[in-house]
Amino acid sequence: MSLPAIDTSYFTKFLVDLLNIASPTGFAEPAVAFVEKELSQYKQLELSRTRKGALVAKWKVENDLPPVALTAHVDTLGAVVKEIKSNGRLRLSRIGGIQWNTIETEGVWVFTSSGEKIRGSVLIDTASGHVHGAAGAETKRNDEHMEVRLDARTTNEKETRALGINVGDCVAFDPRVEVTNGFIRSRFLDDKACVANVVAAIKSMAEAGLSPARSVYFHISNYEEVGHGAAAGIPPEVAELVTVDMAVVGAGQESDEFHATLCVKDGGGPYHFGLNNKMRALAEKHNVPYKTDVYVFYGSDGEAFWSAGGDVALALIGPGIDASHNYERAHVDGLTATTNWIMAYLLAE
Ligand SMILES: [Zn+2]
Repeated sequence: MSLPAIDTSYFTKFLVDLLNIASPTGFAEPAVAFVEKELSQYKQLELSRTRKGALVAKWKVENDLPPVALTAHVDTLGAVVKEIKSNGRLRLSRIGGIQWNTIETEGVWVFTSSGEKIRGSVLIDTASGHVHGAAGAETKRNDEHMEVRLDARTTNEKETRALGINVGDCVAFDPRVEVTNGFIRSRFLDDKACVANVVAAIKSMAEAGLSPARSVYFHISNYEEVGHGAAAGIPPEVAELVTVDMAVVGAGQESDEFHATLCVKDGGGPYHFGLNNKMRALAEKHNVPYKTDVYVFYGSDGEAFWSAGGDVALALIGPGIDASHNYERAHVDGLTATTNWIMAYLLAE
């Protein structure tokens, strides 16, 4: 059986829209709700939420085969306000370890607890070349020296608090989405690209009148970047879990932006040999361009489930993302390969 066609322009629009919704870990609800709304049009799916806020979409089919699950995450790197400085600017506490040098001069939104949005940008505290000269380049980019300058009239702590800003407010960095020549360049393609892969696979199958070979749970995770997203929310009857998350591209890696990758081992150890081989066989059968790879500085939501006691066969697939956790880039070829691989898996007995 050949795989159903993918609507690439739908895929790209959905992904761009999702990338433009701020969703740092802990404040990912708008992105979860966006995916929920999109999936609500498929009557095949039974949608629910975990208490933690993750979205679970069950596509039930009538047979005796044990169900399977796929997980992908919508939460991203970000920050919260750690301190309101005496000059009215904000010191941040990072979420998920974003590197300061990658967001220097980036635009931000500060989301207050009362629902206000205040614009600003991230700067080093020795930003002006005319004030600090060479010292600006030498200042260490760290929690102490990086600050948010608000686009509001404030020169002290009191005035900043009067804007409604408090310690603990969410800070989201601009994604800077751009689509050119089949490349999608943006922050946080990790892991919104893979959420779009999952949604596109559901759409293609539903529109082709196809159903999965066994019941499936699609788990849209909201706490992955801090290590425990899928620790809860995968039902115990699930026999196999396929984590869909970005593949690591760069020096020494097999992965690239034009293939999907099966990760055999990452920082959390090896994945499940049997499910790995099933994924390889499906890729071969359906001519999905893929690589196998090992990621050193990487842990996945599937491993979070394993660590929490989940008893499943576990695999990790995903599109190659260049410069991950930095200014990321993907290509339509690797993204299409991933969507096809998901469909091949869903249709396989
Ligand atoms: Zn990820």
